[in-house]
Amino acid sequence: MNPLQGSTPNSSAPDHRTADAVVVGAGFAGLYAVHKLKNLGLKVVCLEAAPDVGGTWFWNKYPGARCDVPSLEYSYSFSEELQQEWTWTERFASQPEILAYIRHVAQRFDLRRDIVFSTRVTSATFDETQKNWTLTTDTGLRVDARFFIAASGCLSAARTPDIPGVMNFRGPIYHSGQWPEAPARFEDLRVGVVGTGSSGIQIIPELARVALQLFVFQRTPNFSVPARNRPLQRQEQALFKRHYPQNRKRASESNDGMLGLGAPTEPTPSVDELARTRTYIARWEHGGAAAVLTPYTDLLTDRTANETLGEFVRGKIRAIVRNPAIAEKLVPTDHYIGTKRICQDTGYYETFNQEHVKLVDIRQEPISRITETGIMTSHGHYDLDALIFATGYDAVTGPLLAMNVRGKGGLRLADKWAEGPKVYLGLVTSGFPNLFIVTGPGSPSVKGNMVHSIEQHVNFIADCLAHMRDNRLSLIDSDIEAEERWSEHVREVAERTLFPLADSWYVGANIPGKPRVFLPYVGGIPAYRKTCERVVANGYEGFHLQ
Ligand code: NAP
Repeated sequence: MNPLQGSTPNSSAPDHRTADAVVVGAGFAGLYAVHKLKNLGLKVVCLEAAPDVGGTWFWNKYPGARCDVPSLEYSYSFSEELQQEWTWTERFASQPEILAYIRHVAQRFDLRRDIVFSTRVTSATFDETQKNWTLTTDTGLRVDARFFIAASGCLSAARTPDIPGVMNFRGPIYHSGQWPEAPARFEDLRVGVVGTGSSGIQIIPELARVALQLFVFQRTPNFSVPARNRPLQRQEQALFKRHYPQNRKRASESNDGMLGLGAPTEPTPSVDELARTRTYIARWEHGGAAAVLTPYTDLLTDRTANETLGEFVRGKIRAIVRNPAIAEKLVPTDHYIGTKRICQDTGYYETFNQEHVKLVDIRQEPISRITETGIMTSHGHYDLDALIFATGYDAVTGPLLAMNVRGKGGLRLADKWAEGPKVYLGLVTSGFPNLFIVTGPGSPSVKGNMVHSIEQHVNFIADCLAHMRDNRLSLIDSDIEAEERWSEHVREVAERTLFPLADSWYVGANIPGKPRVFLPYVGGIPAYRKTCERVVANGYEGFHLQ
């Protein structure tokens, strides 16, 4: 018998399936996992809560949704034909274009037949006797599989704050991360947006175009830099494609998996203030978060260096926003630039120069409740016809814990991670054999080009499963000490930077009660990849294989 294949016999019941691997999620990660594992000859079932493929790009249909990684790079590299045949229209792709691309991939590689849509996982339990995972779902479907590949995404557990009275509001309520299929209309309405992270900052300028009045309820200002999005010229795209493999390789050698403007080589003190400012201006004009954050080596490790850039961007905000009092409210002062995920916008700060847009500083006038007709703050009532929450996610761990995962001895993942996730290489957590997490906590994931990290993880998993098949192995778990050491390394690397200082979703600060642990690995993609390669070269060092 092939040791990778599940031992449970196939059931004829329509609500019970068996597979070699069950993949949860049909976004970039899940689709590629399905493709790779099928190519290994495995029987794969993919479970997806949405009615279609796309993952985050299915749910985030809000006005203005756009990627902040260049489109030519935010795409799969695994198929030269695919990357040659697809044409991107803009420097940074919009949500509809990315979703169209993902749908194309699903079609082109015939992946839909393996996906069960509109099916949310409600539990995942490891059976030690059968050496199988059993996943149950909200539709009654049960799947038994030897391997469980969690491709449920890092930013998929949307979070709406528990503001009193929210159920009473008579108008439509939206969350940026759960945007409905049916078109939402805001023309001539009085609209409230709560939240000014990356999502809010994209939505707000778009809504200002159509809304009668727009009220932005801001708790904490964020740094945002101009995207300077533009149509892609046919020639520049052709040139890029001609060198696609080389471009991908160069990108994989950078810390964030993107080409950018090249890795910085010198720290801020190596140039005088005038030269530095010239560089900051050039980067600001070039546009894109990555460009602005990467001219010097010490920007995310040294407070003084960071403040040179922080002050530059604060100056830009003050120059764009005409009303100085409003500008001051928009200027971030509570964190070092880049230590919370920096936002990328098109005309965000300019929006506040419009008469019908009002910034409500809810630190000065806290929201007391939501009424039938709007939002009540300590200063008065804001009449609203529609309300949008752009209030973020229970990031990285949230989607995994939501599946109610139980490992060996009935151990709940939620209990194992009560003080923070421990995941060897961000891939496998001990006590949960044969569970692979794609871009899990402790891997570069959200700290770079997600598609790049997804491909690297899925390749690792597929190679590992091939190794297991070839060596007649059926179980993989991580060594508890290797996992501890890796978690400690992830923490130490983060401590060398300014990242842990910010109250960001990177440390779970946006979720009351969530343990404060720095979730992604910030040692850079090349260092991470080399570690994975060394682990494999040393016979899957740190893993237990049976
Ligand atoms: P986010 O960055 O977590 O921002 C959430 C916003 O909601 C913050 O302004 C937060 O304020 C506010 N908020 C949360 N709870 C609140 C409450 N009870 N009352 C008032 N305000 C509240 O979430 P996001 O904007 O959805 O972005 C999440 C991540 O998704 C991004 O960092 C990025 O990685 C990704 N993303 C990327 C893009 C892109 O590629 N361009 C676009 C969208 C999202 P506080 O700061 O005070 O908590």
